[in-house]
Formats: sequence, structure tokens, C-alpha cells
Amino acid sequence: MSAPVKNVVVLGAGVVGLTIAYVLATSPEAESYKIKIVARDMPEDLDSQAFASPWAGANWSPMRGFNKDTLRREIATFNKFWDMIPTGLTRALPSRVYYDDDSDLANLWYKTLVRDFRVLEPSEVPKGAKGGVSFKTFSVNPEVYLPWLKQQLQQRGVEFIRKRMHSLGQAAAIVGAGGVLVNATALGARSLIGVEDKDVYPIRGQTIIVNAPAVDEFLSFPLGRPSADGDATYIIPRPSPTGHVLLGGTYQEGSWDTSLDFSSAQGIFERCAALAPALRDKETRILSHNVGLRPARKNGARIEVEWLDGSHKSELLPASAGPDGRVLIVHAYGFGPAGYQNSWGAAEEVVALIKGNFSKL
Ligand code: FAD
Repeated sequence: MSAPVKNVVVLGAGVVGLTIAYVLATSPEAESYKIKIVARDMPEDLDSQAFASPWAGANWSPMRGFNKDTLRREIATFNKFWDMIPTGLTRALPSRVYYDDDSDLANLWYKTLVRDFRVLEPSEVPKGAKGGVSFKTFSVNPEVYLPWLKQQLQQRGVEFIRKRMHSLGQAAAIVGAGGVLVNATALGARSLIGVEDKDVYPIRGQTIIVNAPAVDEFLSFPLGRPSADGDATYIIPRPSPTGHVLLGGTYQEGSWDTSLDFSSAQGIFERCAALAPALRDKETRILSHNVGLRPARKNGARIEVEWLDGSHKSELLPASAGPDGRVLIVHAYGFGPAGYQNSWGAAEEVVALIKGNFSKL
């Protein structure tokens, strides 16, 4: 006899929540789960600054301060997105990134992860940089990718419910006893009652999207090291529409300000044009100025299991659970500037935790 179907509610419809639902809905055990996504912001809300996912670059770029968890997640994610290149959802991107410090370029941790890695000759490095490397990475356009994920999920019977939850218990009540709740609320984890994770904080990112077909490389300098004022410089051509390129940006830790700053915009354009002079061609058109908040967490993302049961205060106990009912919570939030480039690896980890605890439900 087959096991009874378990309810799974994924709270959050950003790239992390959607990818978790996708991995679960396409797993060999998919028929064991009835999946719902509950969220305040949906994948089609591409103008909403209340969530991060629409505003990302989005590409794979080397991060400083990685650890063994991020390494594992990034390897899985890089390979998955690389395999998607033939679909057109992702694009293989020649890249040059420059360092302003004495990093050991020949032994960078990611040299076997990216494709065609090479240390640049001094003559290939711009003034002010101490060195650089070239390689191939990928980019993805959130405006295409998020609706695609939603469509894939709907085709597999996943239900989407637009609702803001005030507490973990309220969400657990939708799940019911013996079910699974995935908390993929990103910055929302700071105020969601029952989580209230004060280690969660925003990193403000202002960007410009231009139409500049002549710019076809990912460029960044200095790589992953914003200035004291929070200026960062990076250029990410998108897979589609053809010619669209994201220019970044700012990296302002702790800032909740979602308004546009026009002097920042001017600075972003000037810094990017210094790296890619083709941006100054008269064909270049500015399409939009944007601000998003990266959902960061001190000491890194949280992927962790918690059980919601009678030992919690009554606010958290779902009425439907009954005195002995338990709900499995899997937290998955705090991916900061790297939610896309961790998404597949993180989702596989979350799904492994759900499967590993399935028999205890
Ligand atoms: P979010 O996208 O913020 O989604 C959170 C979800 O939870 C939303 O659906 C929201 O409505 C829901 N939610 C929250 N609270 C509640 C509640 N109480 N009730 C109901 N629903 C709730 N990453 C990369 O990998 N590569 C890049 O190149 C890159 N570039 C970036 C550039 C910029 C300018 C910015 C801003 C971000 C960038 N990022 C990049 C980071 C990336 O966008 C994030 O890490 C990622 O989108 C986080 O996804 P998420 O699903 O965790 O969160």
C-alpha cells in the first residue's frame, strides 16, 4: 500500500521557494506530496520591491567568504544552470573579473567550477587592478525565469495562494498535522512571528538595465569588494531579450531604502562604461533604473529543520494539529547576494531534509 499523501506548504515564491517546490514536484516521490505555495509576492509581481528575486543580475559570480555549505550548493547550482543553456533560459557568458588585492589567482577556489578558466596576462588587466581572470559563467533573466518556474509548477498541479502570513503557526495551520512547512520568506523571516530572526538584514542594490547589444561579457572590478560607500561595479548581459544588460550597482548593507538615487545611477553608469566603453555607443538606451534588497543573514543562510508541536507557545500551535500533531518546518532563507547561484543546491538539501524526516511525520 502506498504511503498517505503529505501536505507541503512552501511559504515564499522567490527563486528559493520556487526551486524547492520544483525539485520536490519533479522528484521520484512527487506523488507523495500535495504542494502549495503561499506567498505575499508572486513570480509575476516583477515590479514588487517587497521581494528580492525580480531584481537580481542574475548570474553566477565568485563570492568572497564562501564556506563548505555554499561551495556544495554552488557546484550543484552551476552545473544545473549550465545544463539549461540549450533551453535559452540561461546563457553562457564569457567573463573577465579583476582583483585589487593579492589573491592567488592561479589557485582560486572556483577555477574548476567555471568553464575555460584562465589567469589574465598583466597587459590584459585595466589600470588600478592587480590581476584578473577570465572564464565562462551563466546568466539568467529573472523576468523570464520566475514566471517559467511558476508555469512548470502549475503544470505539475502545484497550487499558488496569495496571502501574507503573520506567523509560522498561521502557515502551519494551512499545512495541518503531519505535513511540511518550508520557510522561504527571505527578509520576511525577520518579522514572521515564531521565527523573528534578527540576524536577517537587507543589502540594498541599485542597478540600471540598458539595451546595449555590443556588450556581451560579464565584467566586474573590483570583484566582490564594494567600496566603503557601498559602490560595486559589475555588468551582466542577459540571455533575453537580446541586447539587455544589467549594470550594477550598489551593495549597501543594512539599508532598507527602496527609493532611487540618481547620483548613484550616474556613478554606476560611469564606472561600468569605464569597464565596457561600448556602453557609450549612441545605440545604448537606458530601459530602467531599479532598486532591490538582497535578503542577507549574519553568518550565512539558514537551512535547518525544526518541529512545530505542543511544546511551542499557543500562538505557534496550529489548531488543526491536535494535541499530538506535529508539523515539520524546514527553514531556507538568508541567501543574500547569491540566491540564484545557490538555488538548486539549496533546494536539493531542503528536499533531502524533507525525505529524511518523512517517516517521523
Ligand atoms: P525573495 O525573492 O525575497 O522571496 C521571498 C518570498 O517570501 C516572497 O514571495 C515574499 O512575498 C514571501 N514572503 C515573505 N514574508 C512573507 C510572509 N510573512 N507571508 C507570506 N509571504 C512572505 N543572486 C544571485 O545568485 N546572482 C546575482 O547575480 C544576484 N544579483 C542581485 C542583484 C541585486 C540588485 C539584488 C537585489 C539581488 C541579487 N541577487 C543575486 C540576490 C537574489 O536576488 C536573492 O538572493 C534571491 O532572490 C533570494 O530569493 P528568496 O526566494 O530567498 O527571497
